[in-house]
Amino acid sequence: MAAELLAQESTQTQREPLLRLEHVTKAFPIKKGFFNREVGAIQAVSDISLDIYRGETLGIVGESGCGKSTLGRCILQLIRPTSGKVLFEGRDLTQLSPKALRPIRRDMQIVFQNPYSSLDPRMSIGDTIREPFIIHKIAKGKALREEVRTLIDLVGLPKAAYERYPHELSGGQRQRVGIARALALKPKFIVADEPVSALDVSVQAQILNLLMDLKSEFNLTYLFIAHNLSVVEYISDRVAVMYLGKIAEVAPASQLYEKPLHPYSKALLSAISIPDPDYDHSSRILLEGDLPSPANPPSGCRFHTRCPYKVEVCTSQIPEQAEYGHHHIAACHRISEIN
Ligand code: SF4
Repeated sequence: MAAELLAQESTQTQREPLLRLEHVTKAFPIKKGFFNREVGAIQAVSDISLDIYRGETLGIVGESGCGKSTLGRCILQLIRPTSGKVLFEGRDLTQLSPKALRPIRRDMQIVFQNPYSSLDPRMSIGDTIREPFIIHKIAKGKALREEVRTLIDLVGLPKAAYERYPHELSGGQRQRVGIARALALKPKFIVADEPVSALDVSVQAQILNLLMDLKSEFNLTYLFIAHNLSVVEYISDRVAVMYLGKIAEVAPASQLYEKPLHPYSKALLSAISIPDPDYDHSSRILLEGDLPSPANPPSGCRFHTRCPYKVEVCTSQIPEQAEYGHHHIAACHRISEIN
């Protein structure tokens, strides 16, 4: 009975949103001509509402250019959303000045895709990991050296890495440095933006396992952005599928991969290569046409130009998000008919 109560309690704690996005939109102006006149806008992220719960890993998948990295940067306020709210522990970050944001930045960090370009080649690894402590005036002297050594150890780098430079490390080791830097200030939330895409397949699993171990050790919450669907399935508790700046579907990872409801998710997931000679490849749904331009997105449902289930209403009305079963959300006019 006590175990049941504990399990219930832990589930409730997990369902507490650490981050809440309300109608977040990011449009980049398109400027032209001698006078730099604004002639349009790229709708990179459009009206996204989403909760990210404390202690979970929320994966975001979608074709390149769907706005997933822009969304990650909008959450961290590395780029400011055009409209909408980003509530972190109840505070709307979009309303805070850069000065007011500074202490909150300690709680929200990012791990970049390319660890080589995100590290300063002139700085030793020790100095690189030390930098966040210095910027935030947290530790100095012997205590700081000790903190850096602990982090180097924690992310599985050899002790000698302290004195080395980025070019002396392998790709996997450089990504471990990026992770150590992100962890330095003991954040609560980390955006991992394609953190293993630039690495050899053999190293990817090591980095994913490291991220998972660190998450449970430090009770972290991750937003994990990737285009590799198998990687996202492996690491995520829930997965959001993005298409052209909008969320098409959000569900617990196992539910989404077993039974996707949205036509775009179905097509995306049917394209995962399955190394089984008996697998029926005819069940694969081929998407026709290219991703439309976010500067001129289709009316109604943004997926209608490529959707095999399109009907008249899809071209004129934006589908609202609705819940279908346990925490399974999708935005499509025809979910009940096509599933
Ligand atoms: Fe396809 Fe219409 Fe559903 Fe959009 S709303 S995914 S076009 S069926």
